[in-house]
Amino acid sequence: MILKYCPQCASPLEERRLPDEQLLQPVCSRCGHVLWQNPKPTASGLITRRQKRQGPVEVLLVRRAGPPREGCWDCPGGFIDPDEHPEDALRREIREELGVQATIGPMVGIYMDRYGAEGESTLNIYYRVPTIVGTPTAASDVGTASWFPLDRLPEPLAFGNNRRALHALANLLAGEGTGTRHRSQARKDGRRRRG
Ligand SMILES: [Zn+2]
Repeated sequence: MILKYCPQCASPLEERRLPDEQLLQPVCSRCGHVLWQNPKPTASGLITRRQKRQGPVEVLLVRRAGPPREGCWDCPGGFIDPDEHPEDALRREIREELGVQATIGPMVGIYMDRYGAEGESTLNIYYRVPTIVGTPTAASDVGTASWFPLDRLPEPLAFGNNRRALHALANLLAGEGTGTRHRSQARKDGRRRRG
C-alpha cells in the first residue's frame, strides 16, 4: 500500500477485500473512500541507428542519474501526463531528456513491471523510434546517453521491462532481415528450407 492516509479526510487507510473484488484495496477507515489501485502508464522509445549499411543495429540508452535504479541503463521515456497520448508523451520525454525531435514508429509491445521502493505497478508501452533529428545530448536528470549494439547491451539495465522490450526489438529486426548477425543466418536458413 503506497498511501497510508485518506486523501479525502486524512484518516488511516486499511486494506479491505470489497464485494466482487479479488484484490485487497486501500479503503478509508472513516469515510469509506476507496483508492483503486491501477498501474501507471509509461512510454519508452527504442531509438535505433546503423552506422554502416551492413553494420550492427545500435540502440540509444540513457544512464539514470537519480533513484530508483540510479546509474543503471534505461530506455529514454517516462510517465505519461494526464490526457497525454503515449506517442506525445514519448516525443516530449525524448525532447526533454535528449534535446532531439523524434519520429515515433510502430508500437513494439506493452510490458508490466514494478517501479521504485514502493513497488508501484507500471504499464510500459514501447515504440520504435526510427528517426531523430539533432544530436542527442543528455539532460541533467539523465546523466549520460550512449549508443550500444543491440547484441551487446550494457549492464545493469534498470528494469525488467527494458530487457523484455530490447529482446522483442531484436526479434523483430531479425524477422525483418534488418538485424545484425541474424540477417545472414536467417537468409541461409531460408535458402536451405526452400532448397
Ligand atoms: Zn476518508
